[in-house]
Amino acid sequence: MTFRASILTLYPQMFPGPLGHALAGQALERGDWTCEARNIRDFATDRHRSVDDTPYGGGAGMVLRADVLARAVDHVSPADDARPKLLMSPRGKPLTQEQVRQLAVAEGVVIICGRFEGVDERVIEARNLQEVSIGDYVLAGGEVAALVLLDATIRLLPGVMGNEQSGSYESFEAGLLEHPHYTRPAEWEGRSVPDVLTSGDHAKIEAWRREQAEKLTHNRRPDLLEGK
Ligand code: SAM
Repeated sequence: MTFRASILTLYPQMFPGPLGHALAGQALERGDWTCEARNIRDFATDRHRSVDDTPYGGGAGMVLRADVLARAVDHVSPADDARPKLLMSPRGKPLTQEQVRQLAVAEGVVIICGRFEGVDERVIEARNLQEVSIGDYVLAGGEVAALVLLDATIRLLPGVMGNEQSGSYESFEAGLLEHPHYTRPAEWEGRSVPDVLTSGDHAKIEAWRREQAEKLTHNRRPDLLEGK
């Protein structure tokens, strides 16, 4: 099945951007996913093609208009479209690996990239847009956030990753950060590889990796261990 990504943005030329390269780019060429980036400005109706206006109540910046954005959403996602409609937003629920996994088994996604101060609240309610954040900081626009979300999702589509296993042993998959990795040379700048990794004892290696993952998680992200 082809995963269909529709992106509403004022900068369609930013897509597929980095996702036109490497694994995601090959997957795009194979047709594992499609990337339709539409300019929100195409759905403006005045001769200046305005998409934004000043905020009611005053204040800095401009706000994306509900009527223009709703037309754009309805165009790319008609009523029978089952794909989730996500609005990239610092106010949104933080994106997690679990959510990315759920997206990767869906038929696709509709992503709205905000700009300016944000989006008129009424279109969020009326079109049931789910707000998704990629972290506690403010970007200039939703495009980079959309690329992050798509990158994380596309690599999980069937057949995209070379080694299917690498998806399930990674950080966050077991509620832990990943264990450290080592490769050749065995000795580098006086540092050697932990003996267990060259022992050939797979059970011991597995136990060592688990222990390392737990230690790292405890030190760096104790929040991930809460409730375990
Ligand atoms: N005034 C908004 C606020 O304080 O919440 C910030 C608007 S920001 C300058 C413009 C757009 O960038 C947002 O509408 C959103 O689409 C996107 N954006 C910014 N930070 C983001 C984040 N952490 N995650 C997802 N999208 C983000």
